[in-house]
Amino acid sequence: MIQKQKGTYDVYDEMGRKILYIEDLLKVLMEKYNYEYLRTPLFEASELFHRGVGETSDIVSKETYDFIDRGNRNITLRPEGTAGIVRSFIENKMYARNDLPVKTWYYGPMYRYERPQSGRYREFYQFGVEAFGSNDPALDAEIISIPVNFYKLLGLKGIKVNINSLGDTESRLKYKEALIKYLKPHISDLCEDCQNRFLKNPLRILDCKVDKDSEILKNVPNILDYLNEESKTHFESVQKYLKQLDIEYVVNPKIVRGLDYYTNTVFEVEASVEGFGSQNVLCAGGRYNNLVETIGGPKVEGVGFALGLERLLTALEFENINLIDKKSVDVYIIPMGNNEKEISMKLLNNIRMNGFSADIDYLSRNIKSNFKQADRLNAKYIIIIGEDELKTNTITIKNNETKTEKKLNFDDIIDYLDKEFKE
Ligand code: ATP
Ligand code: MG
Repeated sequence: MIQKQKGTYDVYDEMGRKILYIEDLLKVLMEKYNYEYLRTPLFEASELFHRGVGETSDIVSKETYDFIDRGNRNITLRPEGTAGIVRSFIENKMYARNDLPVKTWYYGPMYRYERPQSGRYREFYQFGVEAFGSNDPALDAEIISIPVNFYKLLGLKGIKVNINSLGDTESRLKYKEALIKYLKPHISDLCEDCQNRFLKNPLRILDCKVDKDSEILKNVPNILDYLNEESKTHFESVQKYLKQLDIEYVVNPKIVRGLDYYTNTVFEVEASVEGFGSQNVLCAGGRYNNLVETIGGPKVEGVGFALGLERLLTALEFENINLIDKKSVDVYIIPMGNNEKEISMKLLNNIRMNGFSADIDYLSRNIKSNFKQADRLNAKYIIIIGEDELKTNTITIKNNETKTEKKLNFDDIIDYLDKEFKE
């Protein structure tokens, strides 16, 4: 028996309906925020992620799914959404549009070769947004408000918003120097990954999951002390707007994010419920004013975030939030025999095309087990077509809740359903 690959999962039954509910809500929310759907391919040139996400990031250094295609190209399954969106933004010359900022959203599977564990899969789904062409701190606040409002609409309560600023390039360089100076005498006490990061990208040491509780990392210089005036003002404005949007947050100078492309604002929303587990970061994002240029476009600012679907589902389960009702159909049709089947199929189609959900017996059950099946499907109405009905061009319709029956002319069914469902 062939089984699913490590770190992947199937979606069926209730989980499928839950996911569809969440996806519907996403679409509605994005309409309210005036973001436009953007879809990019699942695979891109490997080079895109090396440049976009950064060579030293965990994602590129050890998590990508790479392969060489039959035309000898280096291909990578997308590990995240931003690089592809930026590629598309540049390739389709969206920067030249006169309705900036370009505000986009995406949703789909991402691939990372990670050690599978709870909240960590090799194929997982992200919803995310990217907005280009404005450096307005109000837009940073809008971006942060999207996941927060989304979680609020879903009814999640135990969430905590952490924000930080990495400053612009100048501030970041100053901090990097201070950090190197501070870490240098301690570096041999940190994990192997951190020793590597120290040479290539010391900022990422702050994001280390192994050393994060060590005394060394607890006492690192505070990045916020190294922001220049402009970066400081930007960060203060973001916070002012967050207050106007009723968003509670904590300033956490340790947040640097695992990706290399952030500038100024970065944030994470975590599930702050006791016992949630270690994969508690529900979503993360920030501003990336140099990324479009890094990937080969003009200098255009960007800001965005990405949210994991699986961790969201876990959080909903954890807080006992059940999004969906019992499964049900409006009408279940029981043809009493083969002679009645043809007209029943016609009726089935007619009912569906008039906006009601309907199903029919496909197993030639007897009447008793057909009633049981109608209950299993939570049918609101049952239509029975037997010999008598066939002769007189009528049907018997039964309200499955009140158990009352009625005979109707064949042509009056839709009107009848219309009236019943209005009530
Ligand atoms: P982590 O620190 O947990 O590895 P990350 O920094 O790699 O996360 P991002 O790349 O910023 O995460 O992705 C944003 C969100 O996507 C995460 O907050 C999480 O909800 C989700 N996510 C990331 N990797 C995975 C994965 N392997 N499986 C499931 N969800 C994931
Ligand atoms: Mg990761």
